[in-house]
Amino acid sequence: MLHFDIVTIFPEFFAGPFSHGILKRAQETELVKITAHDLRRFTEDKHRTVDDRPFGGGAGMVLKAEPVFKAVESLIAAGMKHEFARREIILLSPQGKKFTQAEAFRLAERESIILICGRYEGVDERVAEHLATSELSIGDYVLTGGELAAAVVVDAVTRLIPGALGNEVSRALDSFSFTPAAGPTGKMDAAEVGGLSWPQYTRPEEFRGWKVPEILMSGNHREIQKWREEKARGKTARMRPDLLPNLEFKAVR
Ligand code: SAM
Repeated sequence: MLHFDIVTIFPEFFAGPFSHGILKRAQETELVKITAHDLRRFTEDKHRTVDDRPFGGGAGMVLKAEPVFKAVESLIAAGMKHEFARREIILLSPQGKKFTQAEAFRLAERESIILICGRYEGVDERVAEHLATSELSIGDYVLTGGELAAAVVVDAVTRLIPGALGNEVSRALDSFSFTPAAGPTGKMDAAEVGGLSWPQYTRPEEFRGWKVPEILMSGNHREIQKWREEKARGKTARMRPDLLPNLEFKAVR
């Protein structure tokens, strides 16, 4: 079972995102355990202070190092059974390495992931320097807090744990994993970096005059697969040309 422990000043934030669909089922079937921990529990003053003014002046407040260290250290002590190499301590930060599908695959193999959510102007840098094993950003924009980012990481990682999805094949055919070399069954290392997936259609065959591509109704699986590969490559070229080399490289191997 993969344990996610989220350190936050808003533990109640997480009541919603994990109580539906695949995330809910993954908890019920004990593939994952997700716990939000209130950072204020790890303070010692009567006001339960978690933030202070930045050294050097400037606007806003900064989350203090001490409660964050105490929270994470107590989680490590409580989870001693987790192998050191399979534990990850992640600080959510717009300054972190960009979170990708490849990173999600790597994290899906961990036993314990501790996620630290910043707020205000951020977190005392000593947390990034001396406590976190990595800093992750979910994109080049600034959120008000790390909670949404933590929920994104938990969601993307959980669906990659074997057994979480109804259909395991779909992991390898998803965008960012898909390569034509994976073939129609997706039998390939899904953690490899690929391009975007192909467009999908469902009933009715015609909607407001727009028809579903005829090939998809032909029953010819080889031709359908060829069409899907072409469409996947075309969409990758249009929307994400930066991913195109991944597709081309895999296709010729
Ligand atoms: N002053 C900081 C800066 O400019 O880098 C931004 C702090 S932000 C307002 C507050 C918190 O939100 C951060 O400490 C982080 O935990 C979270 N956060 C904001 N944007 C994020 C992103 N793109 N990815 C992950 N976490 C983010």
